[in-house]
Amino acid sequence: MASAAERDSTVIRTCRLKVKTESHAWLEASAVEVNQVWNWANATSYKAAYPFSGSRRWLSGYDLDGLCVGASRCFKHIGSDTIQRVNAVFAARRQQFKKPKLRWRVSKGPKRSLGWIPFKAGQLKRKGKSLRFSGKAFRVFERDSLQEVRWKSGCFAQDAVGDWWLCLAVERALVQTVAASRELVGLDLGLEDTVATSDGDKLEPGHFYRHIEQKIAQARRRGHIRQAKRLQRTATRCRQDALHKYSRKIVDRYQSILIGDVNSPKPVKTRDSKFALRSGWGMLKTQLQYKGQQAGRSVRIVHESNTARTCSSCKAFTGPSDLRMLAVRIWVCSKCGDIHDRDVNAARNILSAGRCPPSANGNESSPTAVPTSRTTVNPRLRISTLTVAA
Ligand SMILES: [Zn+2]
Repeated sequence: MASAAERDSTVIRTCRLKVKTESHAWLEASAVEVNQVWNWANATSYKAAYPFSGSRRWLSGYDLDGLCVGASRCFKHIGSDTIQRVNAVFAARRQQFKKPKLRWRVSKGPKRSLGWIPFKAGQLKRKGKSLRFSGKAFRVFERDSLQEVRWKSGCFAQDAVGDWWLCLAVERALVQTVAASRELVGLDLGLEDTVATSDGDKLEPGHFYRHIEQKIAQARRRGHIRQAKRLQRTATRCRQDALHKYSRKIVDRYQSILIGDVNSPKPVKTRDSKFALRSGWGMLKTQLQYKGQQAGRSVRIVHESNTARTCSSCKAFTGPSDLRMLAVRIWVCSKCGDIHDRDVNAARNILSAGRCPPSANGNESSPTAVPTSRTTVNPRLRISTLTVAA
């Protein structure tokens, strides 16, 4: 067992390594068997939950293991360890979504599920230059990154292009980051593909992959589906890279980070939903959360309405209010005459909303949080602490 100090100084990261093509056929055949196990678990636990007669039972992964003893004899590729792992993951997912039945895993046809083979930590072993799993040797790219690394459970996963990846949960030492140079920042995740900070710094990740979109459309028109998927993957990687670099920059620079809440259903229903969904604000939020936690920063989500139309200088509602006026990027306050960039103005409003005393619930432990007092709480504001590292 790792001591408490050791656990504090390490973080769990997912390590993704590409599997060399020679093993793809074997992995695809195993994935079909995994699908069969999954579908069996799905059918069996549904039958137990809604039996024709008798009492209902909610089967756990352990129950499923007991019901399929000896099943590995029916399979050519996977062993009992993998079957147990599939049962465990199935039971966990079923518990998570609180559903008696999950989706079937499809092995053939256009709606085919992407291949997935989970395993326990002990099943994957090093052997010379390769790795060994279920009696089969594997070679991966960037093998050196696995040297002297202790992994936990993991899986082989296929992507839309058809390539296989070895995904491992790996314990890594915590990297001490530098002290933040600035105190507070407000972040506005815009409806379009932009993020703005209250200091006027902007990110438009769309710039990094928009040129690829034309190529994707071209490939689709010509019927080059595989090529289109490959380009799609490139675009996703470009966007992820931009978001990773941006979140790293923000976390390194600021001690307290306030993010405007864009979870409201409104933007998704507008025509701009394509941007709101694609730009992956959830991903940026998660990155800021975990990077902030590791670096000892405070990351908070600020629920604040009217950030877009409030003038950040005089607090009058003079900005563009309607969703139809999204095209307005720069506006002039009719009351005080200040010129505002829409996104930066919203970020500044989020910052000033976050500076107010947080909610009276009192579960905040942010180093910068003002002590709560019921008399001064603005009822319009609800601020919840997401992650606060000591
Ligand atoms: Zn104004």
